[in-house]
Amino acid sequence: MDGVLPGGYWDGEGQLHRDFELAPLTGREEELLARGDRAESATLVTEVLSRCVRRLGGISPVPSEVVRGLLVADRHFLLLRLRRAALGDQVRASLVCPWPDCGERVSVEISLADVPVDEPPHRAPAHTMTLSSEALGDADPAWAEVRFRLPNGADQEELCELLVRNEAEALTLLLTRCVLGLGPDRPPGSRRIAQLSPRARAEIEERMEALAPKVEQTVEARCAECGRTFLVPFDIQRFFFGELRADAALLYREVHHLAFHYHWSERDIMEMTRERRRTYIDVLSDMLEVESNGA
Ligand SMILES: [Zn+2]
Repeated sequence: MDGVLPGGYWDGEGQLHRDFELAPLTGREEELLARGDRAESATLVTEVLSRCVRRLGGISPVPSEVVRGLLVADRHFLLLRLRRAALGDQVRASLVCPWPDCGERVSVEISLADVPVDEPPHRAPAHTMTLSSEALGDADPAWAEVRFRLPNGADQEELCELLVRNEAEALTLLLTRCVLGLGPDRPPGSRRIAQLSPRARAEIEERMEALAPKVEQTVEARCAECGRTFLVPFDIQRFFFGELRADAALLYREVHHLAFHYHWSERDIMEMTRERRRTYIDVLSDMLEVESNGA
C-alpha cells in the first residue's frame, strides 16, 4: 500500500516527507492493539505505525521518533488506511436517528472511502501569527508575535492522560510544547504560557486548527426510516482499537485452528496478515468439508 500524507513530516534539515509505503496489519499488531487500554492509545498508535510504515519520503526504515513527530491528522490518515486494508471500506453501525420526529433505530452503512480529508492551506515546519490587541490586553505589544508548530503524536502521548483529568491544564501543556516563541521569548516556557489571556489561547488554538490538515471526525449517514441525513461522530482512533480489540478472542481461535491443522508455529501464524490467515482458514474449512463428505 502506498499513498501521500495530507500534511507531511519535516525532518531536521527542513525537508518535507509526504509519500509513504504501508505494510498491512499482521496478527502481531492485532494482538498489540487488543491488549492496550484506552489511556495509552496514542502510544499504541505510535507502536502500530512504527511497525507498519515501511517508508516515509526518503526515510526508511521509519523510527518511532519520526512516527511520534507526525501530525495528528497524518496519524489518523494512516490508521484509516490500515483499517481499510484489513477490514474493507464499509462500516455498519446500529444508531438511533437523531431527528426528533423519527428516533428510529436504524442500521447504517458508512463508507470509509468517503471520510473527508482536508489538506492544509500551506505547509511549513513552523508558523507565525499576531495576537489581536484584545487578546494581548495590557501586555507588552512585543509579545503579540507567536511562533508555533502544529500538534503531533508526541504531544498526544504526553497529553492523553492529563486530558482525561483536566482539559484546561492539558491545553496549557499543549501550548507550552507547541509555542516555539512568544515575542522575544524563545521558547516562552510554561510560566509565560500560563499568563496568556483566555482570548490569546483561543486565538492560537484557532490558528493551529486552521493550519492543520484534517481527517474529518464525523461522517454523514442516511436514516433508512425517514430518509434524512445526519452526522455521526466518528473517532477513528477509538473506533480502530475498539473494533480490533473485540476481535482478539477470534484471533487466538484462528491461530489455534491453523496451528492445530497445519502444525505451523504460533510465531509464523501471527506474522501473517488477517487476509492471509482467513484465506488458509477458508481452504481448511473446504478441505474439512470434503473429508467429512467423503467419509
Ligand atoms: Zn430517521
